[in-house]
Amino acid sequence: MGRSARQDDTQSCLSELAGNAIRHGSPDNDEYLVRLVRHTHCLHLEVHDSAPHARPRIPGLTATQESGRGMHIVQELADDWGSHTTTLDTKVVRTCFRRPESSNSPCSRES
Ligand SMILES: [Zn+2]
Repeated sequence: MGRSARQDDTQSCLSELAGNAIRHGSPDNDEYLVRLVRHTHCLHLEVHDSAPHARPRIPGLTATQESGRGMHIVQELADDWGSHTTTLDTKVVRTCFRRPESSNSPCSRES
């Protein structure tokens, strides 16, 4: 079996989100963390960085900006996405990819 389209989608989103983390993370701490969490009905890709206030831009007003285009790609490829800050003052951008056989099942939000 070759790579599935979903794997390509996941990898494209990882590339965009990791790029954003590198470009917009704090200059004092440019580390970022990638987590892949496998749930019953979906796969969550999370990218954690140290810029809690640099929230991902929604495509539209800032569509000409590099990060805006990146998030547009994420929005197109992922079934769902969102971001939040943590108690450690880091930011997490999480994308959800449903399993093909579970497209009608609820997302496992908690991770
Ligand atoms: Zn999910």
